[in-house]
Amino acid sequence: MLIGVPLETAAGETRVAVTPETAKKLKAQGHVLRVQSGAGVAASATDEAYVAAGAEIVDRVAALGADLVLKVRAPLADELDMMKPGAVLVGMLNPFDRDGLQKLADARLTAFALEAAPRTTRAQSMDVLSSQANIAGYKAVMIAADKYQRLFPMLMTAAGTIKAARVVVLGVGVAGLQAIATAKRLGAVIEATDVRPAVKEQVESLGAKFIDVPTETPEEKEAAEGVGGYAKPMPPAWLERQKIEVAKRVALADVVITTALIPGRAAPVLVTEDMVKSMKPGSVIVDIAAGRGASGIDGNCPLTEAGRTVVKHGVTLVGETNLPALVAADSSSLYARNVLDFLKLVVDKEAAFKLDLEDDIVAACLMAHAGEVRRK
Ligand code: NAD
Repeated sequence: MLIGVPLETAAGETRVAVTPETAKKLKAQGHVLRVQSGAGVAASATDEAYVAAGAEIVDRVAALGADLVLKVRAPLADELDMMKPGAVLVGMLNPFDRDGLQKLADARLTAFALEAAPRTTRAQSMDVLSSQANIAGYKAVMIAADKYQRLFPMLMTAAGTIKAARVVVLGVGVAGLQAIATAKRLGAVIEATDVRPAVKEQVESLGAKFIDVPTETPEEKEAAEGVGGYAKPMPPAWLERQKIEVAKRVALADVVITTALIPGRAAPVLVTEDMVKSMKPGSVIVDIAAGRGASGIDGNCPLTEAGRTVVKHGVTLVGETNLPALVAADSSSLYARNVLDFLKLVVDKEAAFKLDLEDDIVAACLMAHAGEVRRK
């Protein structure tokens, strides 16, 4: 197929959907690859590296005018205008954004959103949520360590002892687990919590303490089981008990990393303004859910400001909304491999597009086809 790789133009986006490594593999599979000049520069991939991998360097119109367009983010209006009706699009297309999907359908694209892949073993190698959340968890801790004006590890020096930082991680999915592992490597003392009691073992295996909020009623137990590995909203009584436990830990914390999300819903509020007030001056909150909160609330903390770092009540709140983009080279390299693996399901041996709706991953990722929104 004629594959196009445009430069991402969404604000703050630095990633690229194909790296020189995956370009070489696509070329070997018989595709013709057109990469927009500069598409990989922010991710440390030069035009020369793409040429060496067998790609042609082209302008924006040629990259977006390909039969198969590989992107990181959903196309903006001007990008949609440059795409061919009938073209295939693969990217992170926001499956819950109905209006956005309608635009893809109106442009008569066959569009696949990789975020919608099921959480199954077969889909693991193309799971963009995991590959990117992993990096977000790492980077959140790196930013926290940078903003925090004290050390993470305990230090015993001739000039006296420095205490280890206390880190609290709220939400222990892929990002939370990596945040725990990263903070641990830096020597912090860590506590973490999640609605899903199944993660307790994972938290403990990383050397952190699990903040247990036991489920009491059958309704709470059922909600805590989640669905498809994801969290479901918990009943108010459980959330109230969780709040009490979290408040105790947050008051003692030096760093709080919040990652709690429920797919398709606003991020829950876990760190209230009173909790922020209870924190020591100089403490840091990195809100990975920034930009995903309910209306008027930007993340897991109501004081978070999406896209900004602010100081409130003496606490630094980091509301970075695209942490993977701050580690562009490795985020792109994992994302590009996810894309390459997904393409195996929609490209046949002759390097032509095939639409096999019997394949559960293909069916789940298909968002638009033949002028219609096809999201299940
Ligand atoms: P996510 O990004 O959707 O959410 C982050 C975390 O926040 C989740 O652990 C969630 O339970 C938690 N959370 C939600 N509401 C909360 C609240 N009120 N209080 C505390 N925590 C709250 O999650 P994710 O990183 O996508 O991972 C979800 C699960 O899927 C994990 O168990 C992960 O290991 C699993 N997973 C499985 C596969 C696979 O089987 N192939 C692949 C990837 C992830």
